[in-house]
Amino acid sequence: MKNIIIAIDGPAGSGKSTIAKLIAKKHSLTYLDTGAMYRMVAFFSLENNVDLNDELSVKKMMEEIRLDINNEQFMVNNKDVSKEIRTPEITRIVSKIASIKQIRENLVQLQREIAKGKNSILDGRDIGTVVFPNADLKIFLIASPEERAKRRMKDYEMKGINEESYEEVLSALKHRDHIDMTREESPLKKAENSIEIDSSNLSIVEICDEISKYILKLGE
Ligand code: C5P
Repeated sequence: MKNIIIAIDGPAGSGKSTIAKLIAKKHSLTYLDTGAMYRMVAFFSLENNVDLNDELSVKKMMEEIRLDINNEQFMVNNKDVSKEIRTPEITRIVSKIASIKQIRENLVQLQREIAKGKNSILDGRDIGTVVFPNADLKIFLIASPEERAKRRMKDYEMKGINEESYEEVLSALKHRDHIDMTREESPLKKAENSIEIDSSNLSIVEICDEISKYILKLGE
C-alpha cells in the first residue's frame, strides 16, 4: 500500500505543531516540523555571519550546513540547537531566510527525502502547495492574530523567555504573516482541496478529533 502523507499548513501560532505531534502519535505517523528546518538555517546564518544578500555565501552555507532531526532534537552540524531555534531572535529573522529561493529548494528536497517511504505528517507553510501537492490530506489551520499571539506568549512563559510584551509578539507575528504570505517563493496560502479549520474557538482535542475523522476516512 502507498504511504500516506498529511500536510498541515497555516500561519505562525495557529497550533500546527501541537496538533501534528498529537496526530502523529495517535496514528503512528512520522512527524516533521519543517519550520524548525528554516529556523536551523537561520541559526547557522547568524552564528556564521552569513551575508544573506550574497548568492555565493548562501550557496556555500547550504553546502556546509548539516541538519539532523531526531524527534524533538534538532542538530546543526552536530550541535544541539533545539532550544536556540525557538528564541525571539531567530523568530525575527527566520522569514527572511525562508524567502530565499536557494534555501527553500534545498530544504524542500530534504523534506521529501525525510518523508519518503513513511506514513508522514508535515507541518509548515507550503506542504500542501509545493512540497507534497498530492498529499492524501491537506489541512489549513488558522486562528485570529490575537489568539495566536496569546498562545505564543504562553509558550514563551513556559520556556522562561521574557523578552517581548504581548503587543510586540502580536506585531512581530503580523509582520511574519505578511512576509510569509507575500513572498515570491512558495507564499503561504491555502492549498487546493485543503480543509480549513479555524482553531480560535476549538480545543486541541476537538481539532485532533476533527482531523482524525478525515484520516480514518482515508483507509475506507
Ligand atoms: O512554523 P514556524 O513558525 O516555526 O516557522 C518559522 C518560519 O519558517 C515561518 O515564519 C516561515 O517563514 C518559514 N517556513 C516556511 N515554510 C515552511 C515552514 C516554515 O517558509 N514549510
